[in-house]
Amino acid sequence: MSAHSHDHGHDDEDAGLYLTILCWAGLALAALDAFLQPLPQGLVWAALGLSYLTGGVPPLRTAVAELWHHGRLDIDLLMVVAAIAAALVGAALEGAVLLALFSLSHTLEHRSMGKARRAVEALMQLRPETALLQGPEGVVEVPVADLVPGDRVILRPGARVPVDGQVAEGAGHLDESTVTGESLPVRKAPGDPVHEATVNLDAILTVEVTRGLATSTVAQMIKLVTEAQAMKSPSERFSDWFGQRYTIAVFVGSFLSYFIFRYLGHVPSEALYRAATLLVAASPCAVVISVPAAILSALSAAARGGVLFKGGAALEGLAEVRTFAFDKTGTLTTGLASVTNVVALEGDEATFLALAAGLEAQSEHPIADAIRREAAERGITPLAVKDVRAHPSEGITGQDDKGPVWAGNARMLAAMGTTLPETLAPLADGSETLVLVGRGPRVLGGVTVADEPRATAAEALRDLKAGGRTDILMMTGDRAPVAVRIGADLGLAPDEIHAGLLPGDKVNLVDAATTKGKVAFIGDGVNDAAALARADVGVAMGVAGSEVALQAADVALMAEDLRKLAAARALSRRTAGVIRQNLAISIGAMAILVAGSLFLSLPLPLAVLGHEGGTLLVVLNGLRLLADPIRSRT
Ligand code: ADP
Ligand code: MG
Repeated sequence: MSAHSHDHGHDDEDAGLYLTILCWAGLALAALDAFLQPLPQGLVWAALGLSYLTGGVPPLRTAVAELWHHGRLDIDLLMVVAAIAAALVGAALEGAVLLALFSLSHTLEHRSMGKARRAVEALMQLRPETALLQGPEGVVEVPVADLVPGDRVILRPGARVPVDGQVAEGAGHLDESTVTGESLPVRKAPGDPVHEATVNLDAILTVEVTRGLATSTVAQMIKLVTEAQAMKSPSERFSDWFGQRYTIAVFVGSFLSYFIFRYLGHVPSEALYRAATLLVAASPCAVVISVPAAILSALSAAARGGVLFKGGAALEGLAEVRTFAFDKTGTLTTGLASVTNVVALEGDEATFLALAAGLEAQSEHPIADAIRREAAERGITPLAVKDVRAHPSEGITGQDDKGPVWAGNARMLAAMGTTLPETLAPLADGSETLVLVGRGPRVLGGVTVADEPRATAAEALRDLKAGGRTDILMMTGDRAPVAVRIGADLGLAPDEIHAGLLPGDKVNLVDAATTKGKVAFIGDGVNDAAALARADVGVAMGVAGSEVALQAADVALMAEDLRKLAAARALSRRTAGVIRQNLAISIGAMAILVAGSLFLSLPLPLAVLGHEGGTLLVVLNGLRLLADPIRSRT
């Protein structure tokens, strides 16, 4: 029942099951002797010995290891001590009942908790071992680990995608549910990203590898999530702390109770028996397991729905969020922006776009993506630009063979010591994003880029507000007219929109919002990392967003569907509810059992039954959350 015994594998679970069966077999023989058919004394002792060994040694071993390595008192130790005390006073059969029930509930608990934990790990095992590499001499099968960015692999219908990549040839549908939790097939055409561990449904696709195995999105996520599991939530820390203090208190209390029972006139064996009963009744196993049982189940339910929490703290935090602050570009909008106007002030549009696309070649910003695609569609080869540097919320700078070049907004323009040329003024007044491109102090032209709200964003914001007591904010580095147009589409009021922000401004606005309550920030970009880290709960657009954002966040939405956020908050609120129920159940059961053993001479087996029953009840109550995945309602 200890909260810290979760890191055992599947094999341990099997071994535990066999030991439990042996323990029960021993108990059955001893019970047969006691109640039905007297057996040879030696056989009875052997049977009881078997029960004690199979039921008592495993918890004793963990307890000793725990004490030795961490200086912590394991709660399981209480059960073993109680069983030994029972044996000492001639109630060996009752002690065996205790150990058998304890072992059974331990096994059940491990199996169910293991099930919850494996939901996340399952993601990792979905990756195929080999891939079909298109080499110069035709297609060869190679280990996935050997693939490097730039390789081309062939995907047959029904095959799992071995690595992160981009469709090079062919078009068809992919089932991305393993990664995003989205059950509908997603159409993919050349240029679209595909993710490791998703399934190619219907076409033969050629995929160009964009990321090696170790850096794939899924591998990255798993690493972040598993590392963060160590970040315990406040209630987890409380139950750990409580378990430690309380275990010691129970030991001392039961020890003292022996003398009290003696003082009250009980014979030594009776007093010891009642002290052992008290030890079992007062053991806080249920209290300690009640929080992790709920949190683990909720974390896996969320993972199956495409929402990865980096640990219980993020899960519990989300339930209390008052303000949800959203980044605009790539978060509330699709991230698939498109170029709407190209105005070249010197030379022809093709040369101009070649420079713009060359500058944006490495950028992960949706604007950069739009410009690259526009150039590709016009058959323009991007110019070679080196020393490229991204300036979050401003633009990008670099060097071509003739000197410094740049692309960006009005802020970038000012940094270059120049002003907006007359001819571009009309573009700057519109409600589309204007990207200026220049060389040194000269402005060479401008490109307008339009992005659209995500199809589900408006509904997601409504869902969040429907949850009650929720404020929504939009924060963007883009200009106000663009922000207001997108905001209006999403049903946001002007005072909910903040435009023209630098990354630091987003942080300040997050800080300002914390005066009202907890703040969640939802973003995708490099320029959002600081705000993601500062918010109480940072939420990154998982597969779509930048890696920096992913690192800084506490929660990742694998599906690019913001409605999952409202669903995740609902789940985290239900989790908080289950935790409260579990604490009430476990503390209540403990109080009843303690009162019973103090005042009503509760027999030891009944104390055990009540104790283990309460523990199983809270585990099962927590597991309800597992059957409650975050589904999208499409
Ligand atoms: P948001 O906060 O909405 O995600 P950003 O802060 O990422 O927006 O970008 C704000 C503005 O900075 C953009 O509207 C654009 O004008 C400029 N910008 C940022 N990155 C780039 C880039 N790679 N190329 C050109 N302009 C950029
Ligand atoms: Mg963004």
